[in-house]
Amino acid sequence: MSDLSVTVAPAAPWIAAQTQALLAQRGHAWLLSGPSGLGQYELALALVRAWLCERPAAQGACGTCGSCHAIGVRAHADLCVLMPETVMLALSWPLSEKAQDEIDSKKRKPSKEIRVDAMRDAVEFAQRTSARDRGKAVLVFPAERMNVYTANALLKTLEEPAGDVKFVLASDAAHQLLPTIRSRCLGHAMTWPDQASAMAWLQGQGVPATQANVMLRAAGGRPQDALQYAPIATLWPRLPRAVQAGDVSVFKDWTPAQTVDALHKLCHDLLAVHSGAVPRFFEQADLPKAGSWQSLSHWAKSLSDTMRAVEHPFNPGLMQEALISEAQLALNAHT
Ligand SMILES: [Zn+2]
Repeated sequence: MSDLSVTVAPAAPWIAAQTQALLAQRGHAWLLSGPSGLGQYELALALVRAWLCERPAAQGACGTCGSCHAIGVRAHADLCVLMPETVMLALSWPLSEKAQDEIDSKKRKPSKEIRVDAMRDAVEFAQRTSARDRGKAVLVFPAERMNVYTANALLKTLEEPAGDVKFVLASDAAHQLLPTIRSRCLGHAMTWPDQASAMAWLQGQGVPATQANVMLRAAGGRPQDALQYAPIATLWPRLPRAVQAGDVSVFKDWTPAQTVDALHKLCHDLLAVHSGAVPRFFEQADLPKAGSWQSLSHWAKSLSDTMRAVEHPFNPGLMQEALISEAQLALNAHT
C-alpha cells in the first residue's frame, strides 16, 4: 500500500532533459538558477535521487530501489534537505523534532528563512559517514533564503567537503548569494520549456487546452507558476477592459499582491504595444487601445512603488479601489 503512494510522476520533459545533461557532467556542487516556475526544485530533487539511487541510469534514478523509495517517503538517511520551514511544510518534508515541537507548542511560527539550527544539522550531516554507501547529498532551496551566518556555515562545508557528499543549491535569485558560494558551485541556468512542451505539461496536470494557453501567458511562460492562475483563467482575457471600465469586482477574491501583479502585467503589455512590440501576458486582441506613453510610464513607476508596500496593506479593499482607479486614469488618459 505505502509503495503505491510514493510513485513519482514522470518529470516534465524539459526537467528530464536537464537532469540527463547535468548527470553526464562531473561536479560535487551545482547551483541551479533562473526565474521561479521553471522547476528548480524538481531538477534539484531529480539530481539527488540519481546520485543516491542504487541502480541509476543516464536518465536518472530508477524510481524503484530502496534509496528511491526512501526519498519518496521523505526519510532517506543520506539526504539532507535545507529549506525554510514554510517551504518544507509546503513540499511535505518533515521538520526536525525540535523545530516541530516549537511550532506545535506555538512558541514560534514556521521560519521563512533557512534557520541556523537547520544549517548546524546539515554541517554535522556532511561530516557523518553515509548509511547506504552511495554517498550523501544536500539539497538547498531556495538558496537565497540563507542569512549571512548560515551562508558562511554552508560555504565552509562546500570548501572542505568531508567524505562523499554532493550539493545542489537551487535559487530564484542567485545574484543574492555570496559570490564565494557561487564560485564554489558549477552553475546551471534553468532552460525555458518551449511553448509546446509547456502546454503539454499543463494539460498533463489536468488543465484544459483552452485555459492552458491563457494561464501560461498570465505566468509569463513559466509552467509551474501558470498553475496558480487556474482559478482566474476564464477571467484573465476580460481583465484589461474591466480595469479600463474601473470594474473593481473582477478582483473580488484577489490579494493586493495578486492585484498589483496583474496590473503590472497589464501595464507592461500596454507599454509594449505602444512601442510596437508584442504583448507577453495578454493576447493582443484582449488589450484595449488605451492610455498614452506618458500616462502608462507614470503608472508603471507608481506600481513599482506600490509593489514594495503591498505585503502589509492597512486595508486590502481600499487599496484595491485605489489601485483600480489609478489604473483607469492611466488607461483613459490621452496625453
Ligand atoms: Zn533507484
